[in-house]
Amino acid sequence: MQFRVGLGHDTHRLVPGGPLRLGGVDIDFEFHLEGHSDADVLLHAITDGLLGAAGLGDIGEMFPDTDPDNSGKDSSLMLSQANERLRQDGWLINNLDCVVLAERPKLLPHRDLIRERISGVLSISPAQIGLKGKTGEQSGEVGKGQIIQAMCVALLSRA
Ligand code: MG
Repeated sequence: MQFRVGLGHDTHRLVPGGPLRLGGVDIDFEFHLEGHSDADVLLHAITDGLLGAAGLGDIGEMFPDTDPDNSGKDSSLMLSQANERLRQDGWLINNLDCVVLAERPKLLPHRDLIRERISGVLSISPAQIGLKGKTGEQSGEVGKGQIIQAMCVALLSRA
């Protein structure tokens, strides 16, 4: 059995106007994340963690922001396509563990719905997806509510 770990990280800026798209879920909030696609910072970190573990490059290579097709794109589609690529190479996802760094909104009320949504996209169990919310303790860009960041580690295996 071969094992590979991958690490994904992403940052997007918050701008006025909701809802907030996070982990494939639209959260009622007065700000949203700005980006070329739907700016789903958590799904981008997961996609990069998976691609990194499988040695398949990164999300920017697979979905260039110079390609108008990727403008406003649903990040679940990108995650799903990345998952297909690694399955083609024989990789299975053992587990993901993710951290969302956001001063607001609180992640906990939305955590299980997000885990369920991601499990549906990846065809794994919600029990294989760890998800934690952390604030910036009112300091730095996270703490001042200017950005949201996400991190993900992914463990893959193949026979
Ligand atoms: Mg991104």
